[in-house]
Amino acid sequence: MANQKNDLWTVLRMLEWGTDYFKKKQIPDPRHSVEWLLADVLEWKRLDLYLAYERPLSPAELEKLRPLIKRRAAHEPLQYIIGHTDFMGCRIEVNPSVLIPRIETEQLVEHLLEKTRQQHNDCLNLLDVGTGSGCIPLRIKQAIPGWNCFGSDISADALQLAKKNAALNSLDVTFFEADLFQLEDADMPDRPWDIIVSNPPYIEPGEREAIQKQVSTYEPDIALFHESPLDVYKAIAAFAHRRGAMLFLELNDRMADDIREIVLTFYPDAEIANDLDDNPRFLIADTGAN
Ligand code: GLN
Repeated sequence: MANQKNDLWTVLRMLEWGTDYFKKKQIPDPRHSVEWLLADVLEWKRLDLYLAYERPLSPAELEKLRPLIKRRAAHEPLQYIIGHTDFMGCRIEVNPSVLIPRIETEQLVEHLLEKTRQQHNDCLNLLDVGTGSGCIPLRIKQAIPGWNCFGSDISADALQLAKKNAALNSLDVTFFEADLFQLEDADMPDRPWDIIVSNPPYIEPGEREAIQKQVSTYEPDIALFHESPLDVYKAIAAFAHRRGAMLFLELNDRMADDIREIVLTFYPDAEIANDLDDNPRFLIADTGAN
């Protein structure tokens, strides 16, 4: 790119060059990455690029694009570079203080919406423990405006971003600081929690090598790793049970049976559900009250 400064760079040429460059750097979905970055610089929708292949890029646009391409070539996640992503129709800003929302977490929310279908007209109180960007309670509030939705997190930076995401989506969700191991003592809104949902840190430090480098290098350790994920699940399940809440958890699939064993001591009806790749990824536990 730098050597060809005087040549004419069109949208198409940049897409082709970028795809090739990212391919050499072993970036997954290389074309996808260059499309997103170019669309971001031009402030266009990605598909608009296809209608303007011959449009020349100005020197200022090339200047803006260059550092973004460099960051992606170093395997930084696209969502951190462009600063946002989509979570089931909510625009969610992300930065390295929060996890990038995953497809699996969308599936967790789908399970929750489906399982509670009969209660969508009730006024339930829902708490997402370890909310990060706030994507879970924000999407739920958007789908079921009559519920009171809350999110807690130990990270002040994450909470700041979650609050910003609530404002960006014009959704009334309250976020507060709490350590998931000290929920009982946390200074939290006094609510009869009906539903507790969580995608907690669930990777053991020993599993670091097994996860994508892009994830372990750029995403926050505090959202991914815990010395003892089973203790994390136990703390959340115990709290939910004391409050008589329904429980929805995203699981480390390699520990699904052990997690279920723990949750069964509180919720005799706890069930595992698989994700779309057929891995045991979710735990759904009802109080047996309805
Ligand atoms: N699903 C995430 C991953 O594998 C981990 C999420 C988590 O620890 N809660 O990257």
